[in-house]
Amino acid sequence: MTDAAPVTMPAYTPEEWTAHVVGLGGKPFHARIVREQVFGQGVLDYAAMTSLPTALREALAETAPILSSREVDRSTARDRTTKLLLGFPRGDGDEATVETVYIPPRRADSPKGATLCVSSQVGCPVACPFCASGRLGLVRNLEAHEIIEQYVRGRAIGPLSRSVVMGIGEPLLNLDHLVRALDVVHDEMGIGARKITVSTVGFPARLRRAAEANPRFQLAISLHTPFDDQRDELVPAMKGTQIDEVIAAADHWFDVTGREVTYEYVLLGGTNDTPDHARALARRLAGKRCTVNLIPYNPVQGDAYHRPAPDDVEGFRAALEQAGCVATVRWSRGMDSDAACGQLRVRHAAG
Ligand code: SF4
Repeated sequence: MTDAAPVTMPAYTPEEWTAHVVGLGGKPFHARIVREQVFGQGVLDYAAMTSLPTALREALAETAPILSSREVDRSTARDRTTKLLLGFPRGDGDEATVETVYIPPRRADSPKGATLCVSSQVGCPVACPFCASGRLGLVRNLEAHEIIEQYVRGRAIGPLSRSVVMGIGEPLLNLDHLVRALDVVHDEMGIGARKITVSTVGFPARLRRAAEANPRFQLAISLHTPFDDQRDELVPAMKGTQIDEVIAAADHWFDVTGREVTYEYVLLGGTNDTPDHARALARRLAGKRCTVNLIPYNPVQGDAYHRPAPDDVEGFRAALEQAGCVATVRWSRGMDSDAACGQLRVRHAAG
């Protein structure tokens, strides 16, 4: 908790929360009920928690609001993918906005819950030229309770089975807050470590430190090219960091945690999808237990990149497979709903 942030319910540890509820005249089991309702069921209003005494519900609403954010915008695509733009108080009277995306299973009758894509920072300092979020720069890190709040809002839409930290921001630059939030997601929302993926550009020293702490998530590294000079352009905050160093830190992660790494590769038509790229990428990853996840680019208005043709995507994937890499393609969902990373936020910033 910080002085500037509103002391919302998700900002309390379980112990602090019990003390707060007891301090208001409630019982420890009342504290557990609230946590179960908020984190387990996505209940956003104390008034709906009818198993609590009325006076306690009123006292909780006054002293510990469940949410600090406001829903600035919501858009739902034909495939039911729902994108939320959330505004958190910023301290200067302005609002810090982030995006959270609820991605339901492809089949409407699937018993599985949705995947929630959350943001780790307000804005992003990495400044990838193909990304809408990078255009606005970094505003601030999200607090742990603000990350949790994204999950609570996602749970309010429907059940969650998986999560990816692939929204706005670079997670390794806000790792302490993220790990605290993911502890709640893991322990109180029931999403297991193997169902949580954190995607990073892979700052080597931070990645090695993260591995030593053995956090409860899967690792995905956004590589985007096998060539150092091109990576300097595509991932500007990593300028001067050799791809070899990133891959060595990823190998260290695998050695320490025993969990395989996924390499994310945004396929930009005509930019990083040539046969040379496929061959060089395969050489870099030869003999490693890992998967390459190819993500055909989702166009952002006004940028210089374009989406590759489906045949070219398949050709790139097949070339990697022939060279011995495990490669999959992830077509993004919700194309009709500003689905590219950061687009909703950019649209609002532009008025
Ligand atoms: S792609 Fe990811 S790391 Fe790059 S600017 Fe966008 S949010 Fe940041």
